[in-house]
Amino acid sequence: MDYAVARQRMVAEQLVRRGITHSGVLRAMAKVHRHLFVEEALWGRAYGNCSLPIGEKQTISQPFMVALIAEALELEEDQRVLEIGTGSGYQTAILMELGAKVYSIERNRTLALRAQRRLESLGYHHAWIRVGDGSVGWKEKAPFDAIVVSAGAPTIPAPLVEQLAENGRLVVPVGQLQNQVLKKGTKRGASIHWADLGNCVFVKLIGQQGWKG
Ligand code: SAH
Repeated sequence: MDYAVARQRMVAEQLVRRGITHSGVLRAMAKVHRHLFVEEALWGRAYGNCSLPIGEKQTISQPFMVALIAEALELEEDQRVLEIGTGSGYQTAILMELGAKVYSIERNRTLALRAQRRLESLGYHHAWIRVGDGSVGWKEKAPFDAIVVSAGAPTIPAPLVEQLAENGRLVVPVGQLQNQVLKKGTKRGASIHWADLGNCVFVKLIGQQGWKG
């Protein structure tokens, strides 16, 4: 299988066709080797339009969702991003390709270590990955220019709104266990402006501001 061709096809058929226009996002998605973020038995399916198992009952997000989120975060070079739910580290790599300084929290230690090793081996040396409950954010490193939650929350976690910088963007799937709406909030002074980016299905956010396990 020619993975470079598969990636180009993924970009054309799943991203451009579905409305992703951000050139940096499209470039990053064409560059990062998604197959290396899943086990070898799944490499043949790595550029399809689906999430895939990564162990520990978790999944790597669907390429379209990763692109949609990356675009919605409106990142500029060197901006600080908090990612909740490192998982495979794939989205972390995409955000780093966009020039962001990424702080990432994963509650599952096995996945966090695996993602850290994988990112290092692929040359992404500057991600700060921490094991813990990201639903309460990372207060010591706040404020963030952007925050992304890669797991579905029952409600918008208030600490994340607090940890946004002025004009900061928060993207978070909110709703039921099997069906959420991807919400984007932009902080303007004391208020936050909300927009809906569409329906989605993410694994659950487990923690103090998430589901109870
Ligand atoms: N973007 C990742 C998505 C991984 S799935 C990828 O493409 O690989 C979501 C991840 O969120 C899972 O690994 C899960 O363990 C993690 N997670 C769930 N609740 C969490 C919490 N409160 N804090 C940090 N990580 C959490």
